Amino acid sequence: MPEISPANHPDPSILRWDKTFFGHPLGLSTCFFTEMWERFSYYGMRALLILFMTASVSKGGLGFPTSKAGAIYGMFTAVAYLMSLPGGWIADRILGQRRTVLYGGLLIAAGNFLMVAPRLSTFYTGLVLITFGTGLLKPNISTMVGNLYSADDVRRDGGFSIFYMGINVGAFASPLICGYLGENINWHYGFLAAALGMLLGLTQYVLGGKYLGKAGLTSCGTEADRALFFKVMAGSVALVAVGAGLSLAGVIDVTAEGLSNVFGTGLLVVVVVFFGWLLTSKEYTSIERRRFWVILVLFIAAALFWSAFEQAGSTLNLFAERNTNLHAWDFPLWGQFRASYYQSFNSLFMIGGMAVFFSWLWIRLGKHEPSSTAKFSVGLLFVGLGFAILIPVANSTNVSPLWLTLTYLLHTIGELCLSPVGLSAMTKLAPARAVGLIMGVWFLATSVGNFIGGRLASMYESFPLPMLFGLVAGFCFLLALVLVLMIRPMRGLSEGVN
Ligand code: GLN
Repeated sequence: MPEISPANHPDPSILRWDKTFFGHPLGLSTCFFTEMWERFSYYGMRALLILFMTASVSKGGLGFPTSKAGAIYGMFTAVAYLMSLPGGWIADRILGQRRTVLYGGLLIAAGNFLMVAPRLSTFYTGLVLITFGTGLLKPNISTMVGNLYSADDVRRDGGFSIFYMGINVGAFASPLICGYLGENINWHYGFLAAALGMLLGLTQYVLGGKYLGKAGLTSCGTEADRALFFKVMAGSVALVAVGAGLSLAGVIDVTAEGLSNVFGTGLLVVVVVFFGWLLTSKEYTSIERRRFWVILVLFIAAALFWSAFEQAGSTLNLFAERNTNLHAWDFPLWGQFRASYYQSFNSLFMIGGMAVFFSWLWIRLGKHEPSSTAKFSVGLLFVGLGFAILIPVANSTNVSPLWLTLTYLLHTIGELCLSPVGLSAMTKLAPARAVGLIMGVWFLATSVGNFIGGRLASMYESFPLPMLFGLVAGFCFLLALVLVLMIRPMRGLSEGVN
């Protein structure tokens, strides 16, 4: 292991040599807690979102039909991840990561505060602000983790594992806290808790800024980049002004489903145009372009995976509320067991040992470790199984809470075979000068997946549930099989990259 010292580090100001965070630069603790609170805010709010939209007005909800609620849920979560593309660009070229993360956090907190007010217009405006804020914060805090290590620092992967734990600690705690407040007392208190969580995160981000060194303080944009940025900003302000004139909330509200169709088509066009350009661009060598084909296959698999997995907050959340006997788990300590609490199970399994088990397993398998394509296939198999086991009980209204528990366990196994593997595969397959861009592709898959996941939830009442679950499982199994057949050709295409 190379000796790490201020002398061989590109930015020695990053490190405090007298203290570490679990053996890592102290700046990791700043990133860890910022992302922990950001995910606390995101998942806490998301756990309530579809339940709040579909709850009747007499129960304090918005009384939306599920078709409309699913469309809005799908667009919100898809845009939140889609915004990572401009968010990364703005940090690289205009603001630098440090300030971009700060502004992102402020927008997220502001968005959640708006949702505390019981009005439709503040609800929609809040959602829009949260998508912008997430796009500015999420990709850039991850980049800042990478900045803490020099290229040859062997602690980098370990640092990312600790960071992923932070994500899951936040994602575990918030559905319980925001879910408890939101479902038991008042929906808006749940959103308030999400806003306060983000504020706590921002406070520690500002106080812990001294551990982050100079990385991310500047950007590498040209004058032309800045000019473009200000034009787009001016355009957006004009658009918002027109939107306000048209009463943005009213328009979204009346046309949510129609808007969702337009959005879905737009997303498809973005994907096709983007890959068309990537696969034919003369900027890249033929070897690089061949690897882009591998990325395309992994992208399609990831998009399908996330469209099943991300139904946690939509279809499966509704299944918990409407079809599961939650009373079986009432307990004096927490009172009535609530649907939103299920949103913690994935992170609970993750931090409760599954993440450690999988890192151990890959090392244990040594040279027999499966390729990324094979792991993706297993990931799809498990996420499909999570839905397949629900088919026999999908028509009942009082099923044991153990079914969904098993689903979330299977989904967590699937996630660990695909999500960290995908992140690492993207960095290996991308040319060094396009890692940021290819990371954006990874989030684009999550965005597509979230959108489809929301649209499937829209069909909760209009489509027989066993068939819906069966279709999701069937598509996952089919693609898992196709991937198995592609293991060899994919190895050839990726030229030495596993
Ligand atoms: N659970 C992880 C996070 O919140 C991954 C989510 C995703 O990429 N779909 O960061």
